[in-house]
Amino acid sequence: MDSSLIHLDRQYIWRPYTSTDNHQSVDPLIIQRAEGVWLTDAAGKRYIDGNGSWWTNTLGHAHPRLKQALQRQSEALMHCAFAGITHAPAVHLARELIHIAPPGMARVFFSDNGSTAVEVATKIAFQYWQQNGQPQRRHFIALTDAFHGDTLGSTSLGGIPAFRKVFGPLLFDLIRAPEPGDNGDYAEVIDAIIKELSSHGSRIAGIVIEPLLQGAAGMRMWPPTLLTALSHAAKQAETFLIADEVFTGYGRTGSMWACDHADITPDILCTAKAFSGGVLPMAATITTQRVFDGFSGGSDRAFMHGHTYYGNPLGAAVAREVLAVYRDERVVEQVNAKAPIIRAAFERIAQLPGVKSVRSLGMVGAADLGNAGYQGQIGWQVYQQALQMGAYLRPLGDTVYIAPPLVISQTELAQLLEILHAAIVAAYKNNPWSS
Ligand SMILES: *Cc1c(COP(=O)(O)O)cnc(C)c1O
Repeated sequence: MDSSLIHLDRQYIWRPYTSTDNHQSVDPLIIQRAEGVWLTDAAGKRYIDGNGSWWTNTLGHAHPRLKQALQRQSEALMHCAFAGITHAPAVHLARELIHIAPPGMARVFFSDNGSTAVEVATKIAFQYWQQNGQPQRRHFIALTDAFHGDTLGSTSLGGIPAFRKVFGPLLFDLIRAPEPGDNGDYAEVIDAIIKELSSHGSRIAGIVIEPLLQGAAGMRMWPPTLLTALSHAAKQAETFLIADEVFTGYGRTGSMWACDHADITPDILCTAKAFSGGVLPMAATITTQRVFDGFSGGSDRAFMHGHTYYGNPLGAAVAREVLAVYRDERVVEQVNAKAPIIRAAFERIAQLPGVKSVRSLGMVGAADLGNAGYQGQIGWQVYQQALQMGAYLRPLGDTVYIAPPLVISQTELAQLLEILHAAIVAAYKNNPWSS
């Protein structure tokens, strides 16, 4: 049965981020069930979901309360247009989001994935300046190796060559901050942005960042003090700070939002991934009242953007229940007990031959095994070893990392970290190419 499913997959499916060669030559896992942190394949073998199903799953798979919320909502209303119509799941979700958003945030625009949450933020910022007397504010600033999603707008903001190279001619120009200095030091990066703001600030529509943690870049981390300084400089320049918290939000870094570590309120904040617990595509772009007010005063000033499924009631009901579970299970507080375990394990991993550097923040730990970045292959050797040992640990090229569900038990976490450690050892033992 398995082999026929793989055969049909090869015949009919076009997979994301997968070359045809890879599609034809590497068998995919067939996952049939998932519960808690465990994925179960067609043969009954279990794997710890080491990357939380692409960073979405913070509460574990098949959480009974999320299943109930989904079922309950499906009895009443599964979808309807969100123009000229409203419904309770969206309204209550928006109110609850504002309650936990950084202080001063006031309005919620729903969409359906992280890329569109950023796309919406970009278009809001651009339109705001066009219709509020500063049309010269047309330029965005983004970080080197940023990742903000795969729509054309978010690809423009993105800086990882593998994702943007071929589309270059289609993408909008922006101001790219310099690369972090030696040892991944972001001080020069933020310094350069602040200089740009003080000399050309009146041309800037917004600064788009992944606060404290650049995920797809290879889990690169930067300190809250720099985020505070950047927020201050954005205010001085009267431009918008746009925080893409699609990955960092919902406790991943040890507080609800990465922005909370720096005690800042961005002008626009994007959330997705854990926002709906990894259950349904659902996202939100949250703004301050100031931003929202820039769209009042006439029908030609409306924000002309919306996709068919925006505000979907099923997604909204699940996202509300996610917030309720966060409150009741004190999910973010749980991270404080587990983060030191991750840090200690990665400090041990740092001692292994072949490991160049390690870092951790909240429920993320990462180790660089080579210098080839996103196109590197060493991480894939670790991936294969880890699969055999019972963990799913999709790498970012040469960087291997964990980003498990936040509710992972300490026993399961220890198991995951042991597998990663052993998989790195095994990968180097089997491969004389180790540097
Ligand atoms: C994953 C990610 C996105 C894109 O989200 P999708 O739901 O995959 O469209 C945007 N920004 C960041 C920081 C991400 O990690």
